[in-house]
Amino acid sequence: MKNMDIPRLKQIVGENNVKDDPADLFIYGSDASVHRAMPWVIVRPEKTSQVQGLMKFADEERIPVITRGSGSGMCGQTVPSHGGITLDMKGMNRILEINPPDVYCRVQPGVVDDDLNHALKPHGVFYPPTPASSRTATIGGEIGNNASGVRSVKYGATRDSVLGLKIVLPGGKLMSFGTRTRVEATGYQLHKLIVGSEGTLGVVVEATLKFVPIPKFRCLGLANFDRLEDAGHAVADIMAGGITPSMLELVDNVAIKAVNKTMNLGLPDVDAVLLYESDGMVKEAVDYEINVMKQMCAKHNGTGLQSSYDAKERAKIFMGRKKLFPALSKFSELHASTSLADDMAVPYSKMAETARKIHDVAKRHNIIMTAYGHCGSGCMHTKILMETSKQSQWNSARKAVDEIYEYVRSINGTTSAEHGIGISKASAFKAEKADSLELMRSIKRAFDPNNILNPGKMMDAPDDWVTATDLRYMVDA
Ligand SMILES: Cc1cc2nc3c(=O)[nH]c(=O)nc-3n(C[C@H](O)[C@H](O)[C@H](O)COP(=O)(O)OP(=O)(O)OC[C@H]3O[C@@H](n4cnc5c(N)ncnc54)[C@H](O)[C@@H]3O)c2cc1C
Repeated sequence: MKNMDIPRLKQIVGENNVKDDPADLFIYGSDASVHRAMPWVIVRPEKTSQVQGLMKFADEERIPVITRGSGSGMCGQTVPSHGGITLDMKGMNRILEINPPDVYCRVQPGVVDDDLNHALKPHGVFYPPTPASSRTATIGGEIGNNASGVRSVKYGATRDSVLGLKIVLPGGKLMSFGTRTRVEATGYQLHKLIVGSEGTLGVVVEATLKFVPIPKFRCLGLANFDRLEDAGHAVADIMAGGITPSMLELVDNVAIKAVNKTMNLGLPDVDAVLLYESDGMVKEAVDYEINVMKQMCAKHNGTGLQSSYDAKERAKIFMGRKKLFPALSKFSELHASTSLADDMAVPYSKMAETARKIHDVAKRHNIIMTAYGHCGSGCMHTKILMETSKQSQWNSARKAVDEIYEYVRSINGTTSAEHGIGISKASAFKAEKADSLELMRSIKRAFDPNNILNPGKMMDAPDDWVTATDLRYMVDA
């Protein structure tokens, strides 16, 4: 650990905005991934000039800087594997402008997604990329990971909603990328490059985001399937069926069992459930889309078809999906839910086969895996439920992860749909993007010649994620 010049840091960001208490360092040493590594110090700037001062200091001293929002990332993006300064951006959490005539807003990066949507609601609009973690996820973290959510099938991921960014580069220079207009053809779209760069290129200090009208009508439907494959085929038909669902979610049997067990929802013990939603300003158009989706489900042996416009009914239907991630953690006392191989995307026609493959691999390696996700975007989530105290289970998880990603690549899928790369997915990412890794490293050098921003992540992370850092769990020798 480098001896940090705490008085100098306090001069830059203020007396109360620097922490090096071991308890704080411990908290900032993990995120929602399996990894743990302690930062040397935590700094919480309140304004852009402080970020500039900090980045100048860190670049001169060659100190790693790990920019952090709420730390809900699932792949170790904010785990300081090389030590350094954790730059906590939650102190910059102001909504700077809501501009309905020009249909954009400007926010600081520490604004929490739900808070932004709460502020937008009186204007009749919403910011749509919204991940399931919207109660805690910050706009900066969503930009870092190119987050998306249940409605991204219709409204796109974070990258589709970002019009412009202000970022601070290593050395302290403030740059403005993008515009406040809907279209732009003025050279490289550098703001789009920053989205999904996981804090490796610059520190976002302001974002200009577009928003969309809140639809007058929303209808949510459900179908049960005795065979996972049938649900997968229904998804493929719906997405090729000339309509634009606002949500299309798959929940498999392991997930159904988990939510039934923990929330007593009484969902039928079927192989899979499909949730489908349509929204819009004209009820007839929504009716039409819902009917098309019902027909597709029925064609593929979907049963128990139901749908509702009523907000309370919709919340009830959606409850199992919404609470799925916490439910998985409680699946069994012996097993913990780990974010591994957690969000590949695959072509629609391969959804069912992928879900089946995940179950086969899990069975062979004596671990439990589930398959669920935003299948309308081709996104297949899974988690590995395992006995985290046993070294043998980590060895199994390592093999299972490798096999699953190899399969995903073989069907032209991709390593991550929305959770990003960080440390845990680096080896699969490197295998998938082998052709472009050197180009990516050149881009990184152009932004960050001294490699201070989130070093050792993505293309520069070790291949073996189990030993890349300490694990967040106690493992028996
Ligand atoms: C229960 C649960 C559910 C989830 N559901 C979803 C989901 O549905 N969809 C989804 O996409 N993700 C989901 N996630 C993952 C995660 O919540 C999202 O990716 C979220 O956007 C991360 O936000 P954060 O503020 O926690 O970012 P962090 O984890 O703090 O940071 C994420 C990345 O962004 C970078 N970063 C943060 N702030 C800045 C900044 N100001 N400038 C530059 N880089 C920055 C960090 O360095 C890091 O690389 C879920 C996580 C959990 C725990």
